[in-house]
Amino acid sequence: MICSGTARKGFAAHEIMTTIASNLQAVRNAIVTAAVTSGRTPDEVVLLAVSKTFPPAAMREAYHAGQSRFAESYVQEALEKLAALHDLPIEWHFIGPVQSNKTRPIAENFSWVHSVDRLKIAERLSAQRPPDMPPLNVCLQVNVSAEDSKSGVAPDEVTGLAQAVARLPQLRLRGLMAIPAPCDDIAAQRLPFAQLRELRDQLNRQGLNLDTLSMGMSHDFAAAIAEGATMVRVGSAIFGSRNYGENQ
Ligand SMILES: *Cc1c(COP(=O)(O)O)cnc(C)c1O
Repeated sequence: MICSGTARKGFAAHEIMTTIASNLQAVRNAIVTAAVTSGRTPDEVVLLAVSKTFPPAAMREAYHAGQSRFAESYVQEALEKLAALHDLPIEWHFIGPVQSNKTRPIAENFSWVHSVDRLKIAERLSAQRPPDMPPLNVCLQVNVSAEDSKSGVAPDEVTGLAQAVARLPQLRLRGLMAIPAPCDDIAAQRLPFAQLRELRDQLNRQGLNLDTLSMGMSHDFAAAIAEGATMVRVGSAIFGSRNYGENQ
């Protein structure tokens, strides 16, 4: 796969755009291969383009290459892009850490939040979701084994949180999300994804109706799909490597 540079590296605009479209096609092909190899239907796997740190022009090009679902991690950056791209019917997903003083813009502007890990945050999102909008789709972020980040509910606390979140009126609890620590070995990559799938199945046996496993990024989405991912969150394989310094 070719990973693009960005405008900062001095490519002409149309060259960057062509790279995004061809990267997207390569990712879609890899998703189909991973799904078919594991006996799944490619349609069961939704691709989210993780556009954090990339400019609206890059997202617009991805949109014109057929990508309509985008994921962002930083509220302020996302709000600027929402304004810049308001002419496009984009489905916006929030995947970053949710601070309690940022829940309102998230509740008002996004279709999905993948990173809920505390009841207090879920309660605020529900209370602040405008009543004229459909319920906010929510995944609980779980800190599965080998996970690097400090975010995410512990696996043994996910049942209690899920039961409470499922009762909130303006939220629709859809499933679980995880960000396992990076790892090169595909067999080892599968372990935390399998753990997340088992947790989801366990919650469904307890009466919840969770249809979503949000797992898999650029380096491990094939392993995630093999373990049942229904949404993969892919950034750098589509847009190129990120440069946090210049955008944050
Ligand atoms: C940045 C990010 C991604 C995408 O990562 P890539 O390695 O660029 O594909 C996926 N999920 C979350 C939560 C992220 O923050």
